[in-house]
This record gives sequence, C-alpha cells and structure tokens, in this order.
Amino acid sequence: MIKQPEKYQDFRDPQAHPRYTGIATFFRAPASQTLQDIDIGLIGVPFDGGVTNRTGTRHGPRAVREQSTLLRRINSATGVAPFRDARVRDLGDCWLEQPYELQTAQAEIERFYRQVTAAGIVPLSVGGDHSISLPILRAVAARGPVGMVHIDAHCDTGDDYMGSRFHHGAPFRRAVEEKLLDPARVIQIGIRGTTNDPDLWGFSQRSGMRVLPMDEFQDAGWHHAAAEARRVAGSGPVYLSFDIDSLDPSQAPGTGTPEAGGITALEALRLLRALRGLDFVGGDLVEVSPPFDVGNLTSFNGASVLFEVLCLLAEAWQARQGQQGPG
Ligand code: MN
Ligand code: MN
Repeated sequence: MIKQPEKYQDFRDPQAHPRYTGIATFFRAPASQTLQDIDIGLIGVPFDGGVTNRTGTRHGPRAVREQSTLLRRINSATGVAPFRDARVRDLGDCWLEQPYELQTAQAEIERFYRQVTAAGIVPLSVGGDHSISLPILRAVAARGPVGMVHIDAHCDTGDDYMGSRFHHGAPFRRAVEEKLLDPARVIQIGIRGTTNDPDLWGFSQRSGMRVLPMDEFQDAGWHHAAAEARRVAGSGPVYLSFDIDSLDPSQAPGTGTPEAGGITALEALRLLRALRGLDFVGGDLVEVSPPFDVGNLTSFNGASVLFEVLCLLAEAWQARQGQQGPG
C-alpha cells in the first residue's frame, strides 16, 4: 500500500522510520501545496542568476533538504522545539517561469513571497545566491523598513557591476535605496577578504550600518558579536540573512566566493542562539553551492545553521502570538 505523503506520519513520530528514508523535505517537515494553516514556511529558491563568479547555488535547496534530514526535532542547547511550537511546513521551491532573466525572476520571487507573507506565514528560505534576499525583503518589509542581522564574508552593498544593478553583491544597497532596510538597525558580521576597490563596501559605512569585520569577531568573540547585534537590531522587526561564505572555507568549501579565515560552525551556532528574543520576521540561508562541496560539509553545516534560524523564528512567532492576545 502506498503511504499518503501529505499525512507524514513519520513527522509526527520521528522514530517511526529511519531519517534517511522517504522524500527529502527540509527537516522531514510535511510538504504543503497550499498556504493554509501554516506559521513558518521553509522555501527553496533554486536561483543563481545573480552570481558574479562561480555558480552552482541553484542546487543549494536540494542539497540542504537532503542534509537537513540528519537533524532532529529539539535544540538540545536551548530546549526550543520549533515543530512543536509552530506549524512548520516545506512549501517546496519558489517556482520561476523565467529563471534565466534576472529581473524577471526577481519579480517572480517577490510575487511568490507576497503571497506567503499575505497568508501570515513567516518565510525561511534556502538559496540560491544572495540576490534573492532583495525580492524576499520587498515582501517581508512591505509595511515598512526592517532591521537585519547579516552574517557574511561580504557586505553585499556594492553598486552596479558589468551593467547589472541586481547581482548578488548588491542586494542590501538596493534594499536601503528601496527603504526595505533601516540601515541604523543593520549589522554585518564576519566581513573580510580582498577587494579591488578600497571603497567597495563604503555604502555600508555611509548609510549607518554597523560593520563588524572578521578581525574584530576573532578578537572579541561570538558573544561580543551577539551583543552588538542585539544592540543594533533593537526591539523592532528583524530579518536574518546568513551567507554560508561567512564560515571558514575549511568548514564550508561549497560556495562561490570563499574568503580565508572565517567563522567556525560552532561559533555561528552559538552566535545565533545568543540572538533569542529579537523579533525575527524572516530569514534566509544563501550561497550553498553543492558542485564545489566536499563530503556534503557545506550543505550539512548550512542545514545546521538553518535549524538555529528556524528556532529563532519559531520563538519570535510565538512571542508575537502572546502579544496579540486571544481572538
Ligand atoms: Mn558572501
Ligand atoms: Mn552574500
């Protein structure tokens, strides 16, 4: 007899079947074809049309789904159980009719996310290259600018490059210009590497973002970075964007623009756990490029980061329900 996948008995009882069996969804969460009765939506965005160098992140969602089945249901460090506290579903991949037209694809991504947020669903996305964060923010920040905790080797506040305004090195400059981000409530953590232009990330500084470079991170530690993030983001709505190239290439080789000397996976997990209590309204994990990966290290560490972000979103979602009161 064929099991009915929509019922996902395995998900209700994770011990019912081994975790490596069945169709891979994010964390073995039930897949949903509709947007009804969902609190947090896990969404793949297999798009890498904004990449300026080595491509391959279009394969990211599949690889992260696959590796995420290794993860379990409860965060043993914090006790948070996101699947118990919120209705978490895998919404599949953001479908693109014209995946090879950068701006058309971004408009399609924006349309999809506007439906998701209109349904009251908190989106947690897996890219894809970092250009996807701009159309996602157009939906998430539709009612006003949000703050952002951005963990990345790069600020991604560059300008036009080779005639393109919307490549993966520029989404957060565009987001400030479009008033989707409040730069005074944005922190960028893990910044490092070489540049061709000493003013490459000058927009971040001039607009008022807090840039926390990798040297400061190493000298003062993850707890300092977390304290700074809490101070900068404050009490308003915050988006969390995690570029896997923030991690050291020894722990995340599968990415297009690696930079030596980055954050360890453990530091990233501890940094994220220290952000509990911020009002997160969405998040993404981007730039996992499986063709460059070694032993699934990058997609596995990415899935582990994704779980921490899911825990943050679930707690923030719950806190907002409490504030709204009954009815
Ligand atoms: Mn980066
Ligand atoms: Mn980036």
